[in-house]
Amino acid sequence: MSVVWEVDDRGDWWVSLLGEGYDSLEQDAFDGDEEFGQPLISWVADATQEMVMAMEGLVWPVCILHDLGLHANIEHLNAIWTCSASGGHVVGPVGKLA
Ligand SMILES: [Zn+2]
Repeated sequence: MSVVWEVDDRGDWWVSLLGEGYDSLEQDAFDGDEEFGQPLISWVADATQEMVMAMEGLVWPVCILHDLGLHANIEHLNAIWTCSASGGHVVGPVGKLA
């Protein structure tokens, strides 16, 4: 499964999965943010997750402990995947799940 993201000439961010699904966000949501990279990574993770669910009918990624879908979040300016079971726990950094 390949994920591609790009910025169009209006400054909107686009992410696509296998070139078929799209989601977008106004780039100015990130303007002036010194930690530009991590919120963007979290958004890309969210958009990718929604597309996988919509196109493939899959819940992805999944917590291996609880068999529940994960959520992309920002913690201490880092993009992370979290699980809401057992009061909530961090599963790992976005892009680095085992
Ligand atoms: Zn869990």
